[in-house]
Amino acid sequence: MQVATGKSILNGIAIGPLHIYHKTESTTSVSSTLSPAEEWQRFENACEKAKEQLAGLYEKALEEVGEENAAIFEIHQMMLEDEDYLDAVKGIIETQGATAEYAAYTTGDNFSAAFAAMDDAYMKARATDVKDVSRRVVNILTGKTDGNLLGDKPVILVADDLTPSETVQMDKSKLLGFITRHGSANSHTAILARTMNIPALIGVDFDESWDGRMAVLDGYNHCVYIDPAAELLSTMENKRTEDLKQEALLQGLKKKPNITLDGKEINVYANIGSAADVGLVLQNDAGGIGLFRSEFIYLESEDYPSEDQQFASYKRVVETMAGKKVVFRTLDIGADKQAAYFNLDKEENPALGYRAIRICLTRKDIFKQQLRAMLRASAFGNVSIMFPMVISVREVRDAKEILEECRAELRESGVAMGEVEIGIMVETPAAVMMADELAEEVDFFSLGTNDLTQYTLAIDRQNPKLDAFYDSHHPAVLRMIRHTVEAGHRHNCWVGICGELGADLTLTETFLRMGVDELSVSPAAVLPLRKRIRSLDLTKEAEA
Ligand code: PEP
Ligand code: MG
Repeated sequence: MQVATGKSILNGIAIGPLHIYHKTESTTSVSSTLSPAEEWQRFENACEKAKEQLAGLYEKALEEVGEENAAIFEIHQMMLEDEDYLDAVKGIIETQGATAEYAAYTTGDNFSAAFAAMDDAYMKARATDVKDVSRRVVNILTGKTDGNLLGDKPVILVADDLTPSETVQMDKSKLLGFITRHGSANSHTAILARTMNIPALIGVDFDESWDGRMAVLDGYNHCVYIDPAAELLSTMENKRTEDLKQEALLQGLKKKPNITLDGKEINVYANIGSAADVGLVLQNDAGGIGLFRSEFIYLESEDYPSEDQQFASYKRVVETMAGKKVVFRTLDIGADKQAAYFNLDKEENPALGYRAIRICLTRKDIFKQQLRAMLRASAFGNVSIMFPMVISVREVRDAKEILEECRAELRESGVAMGEVEIGIMVETPAAVMMADELAEEVDFFSLGTNDLTQYTLAIDRQNPKLDAFYDSHHPAVLRMIRHTVEAGHRHNCWVGICGELGADLTLTETFLRMGVDELSVSPAAVLPLRKRIRSLDLTKEAEA
């Protein structure tokens, strides 16, 4: 039995085989032992297979999301028949004695860079497509099934690192847990693991021999046991059964109010990233959705999701929530949440860069599509819209003006809409300091403590070396929260917390005493939080 340690980002036990995920980049070797003719044959066979996959995807997309959105798969098929593309691949195989996968990979990158530099908007947009379709061929050549990081059986995934877009695309029914070498506890990948309620460890040094071996991921003790001894395996199985029992006990709190012993009530909502998560919200009896991270729809897609596609997803969530509040956050892309087709420049300081509302206010086309989809969904339930990364009153006014423009257009076309509350994320020190003025503009504030901690303490939330310094309990952060709650209440704004700190049970009492109106947490954290709230008595001295 081998033991390796790391840092746990979700308590819990996962038991199953390990599966090492290699990114395409690390597996493409340059020189081939085969002849160029043989390599070319391999490439042609893989191309045929890719075209078959794409034809299948086209049919599926046609049925599910319509012709306009399915067209992308036709474009990909055409690229694999483009003479310039094929000549380039052949050239690399013949002149460099390269493998087919290296030639396809390199050609994809070269063409992508060339397309991105063109003035023609259509060709610019194809930069990502040519890269994507090349990756598909490489995956076939290296024996990976397309888009399926996990294989057929449930596994504990092991990887150097995982981006939010890789994580969001995983088939959750096949994922028992994950282990990464890199990554930070405050990253969006970690947040996704919590949303999916999947035990995960980061900072684990693994090697290739782990692939396929049986393991126990012990999130409580920050470690993984490879080839666990029979006795340990049975202890861990018992612990997992115990966890399931505890979860079942919490089910007894369903339909009970989030009220303290002395009668103070607070809303407990859930954070989700896709329509597929809405089942978790119901299962855990959250009173609403306090944060729908709409950017994950973008991360799951190969190209900009259309207004109709977004509308279908938002409508599903709103209808399922049947009148309960659903707070949609507008696109918060950028920094660690990257979708290749946005073609965002590499930045020196991405967390301080071109992201969130800054993209929306300068890419009005994208922003309007999203706002229209949200407004259309508002006819089917209780919708609120909030803007992320706000630093000034000007931004809020501009965003509201664009929203009004969308509303007017929809009204003109006779589209039905409901009442919509408008809010902002308070996640920059600037927003905290401007809270009185900002509160005049909106109906609610939602404190994004993940970023608020990052910007207040000047600590990059993505940097694992700084995890020990990233202290969300820092008095400066808690004072920012208190200041925001007080300013919000002075102007009739309700104030919630949707950052990870909202689920920190050691602070529940503090937040209740501050007068926070709502806590929005990952679905699995809803019932433990309810339990904590129901155990508190605010007439007693605050616990030290
Ligand atoms: C936050 O910053 O606290 C937040 C909720 O948003 P995100 O984690 O998506 O940046
Ligand atoms: Mg944030």
